[in-house]
Amino acid sequence: MSAFTIGGATATRIEETYEPNFDAGKFFAAWSPAVVREHPWMVSNHYDAERNMLKLSVHSWLLKIGGKHILIDTCVGNHKPRAYRPMWHQMETRYLERLAAAGVKPEQIDMVMCTHLHVDHVGWNTRLDNGRWVPTFPNAKYVFSKEDYDHYLKVDQDPKTGPANGGSFRDSVLPVVEAGLAQMVSGAGALDENLAYDPAPGHTPGTIAIKLASRGQHAMFCGDILHHGVQVYHPEWNSFACLDQDNARQSRRKVLEHCVGSGALLMPAHFGAPFVCHIDGKGDRFMPRWAS
Ligand SMILES: [Zn+2]
Repeated sequence: MSAFTIGGATATRIEETYEPNFDAGKFFAAWSPAVVREHPWMVSNHYDAERNMLKLSVHSWLLKIGGKHILIDTCVGNHKPRAYRPMWHQMETRYLERLAAAGVKPEQIDMVMCTHLHVDHVGWNTRLDNGRWVPTFPNAKYVFSKEDYDHYLKVDQDPKTGPANGGSFRDSVLPVVEAGLAQMVSGAGALDENLAYDPAPGHTPGTIAIKLASRGQHAMFCGDILHHGVQVYHPEWNSFACLDQDNARQSRRKVLEHCVGSGALLMPAHFGAPFVCHIDGKGDRFMPRWAS
């Protein structure tokens, strides 16, 4: 279990899966053999060379601060029908056991934050109970971006485009809203004295970047603004899943600049081991400084 200290906060990685999962050339249009030669550090924590597959972790960050328990991004979830992506179909992982091993039961989670509403960031929002999807964290408020919610509600309700996000909007977002546990946020704002969010549109219309500050130290939870460490070197690279290409690039650069300027630890949702890094800047170029 990887855990990191940021001032008075502890951030623990709660793993759902960590294996080669996406064809590199399909995930990044700009991928080439030359990139592999240029970045040997990717093998094998970030890239499976034999199969030409990216190794993207899927995990949550459990944040403990000031007696509160906060969960950032909630992976794919168990028992969810995702036939369009077989590796995520009807999963049965030990995610909740791993959360328990980090010392937290679902009832103890005070707040859930989704950086955006894609299928691999909302799954554990709900669990199956007698054939119904119910909130997994019954005492939490769930922070969703209003822009993402509005966008995917429209996609979901249009028979030409719905169900949105492979069905995850219906089984992992709507039940939380119907239970009255959702807190929609828009624009930039603060949730408490330690946590704030900035709009970072591009990957999705309402993606938010979550900033933690405690005792002069900083962390940045960037969700899918960056998927893979190679994007630190290539902030112009979008993934196949980025909706608005120009905004995605701009938001990525902004996050990297924030990390350079504040010394924030970058805590993405999918980087391979060691999962987090600081960012060094040189002119308009960036480099990861991996956590030890
Ligand atoms: Zn993701």
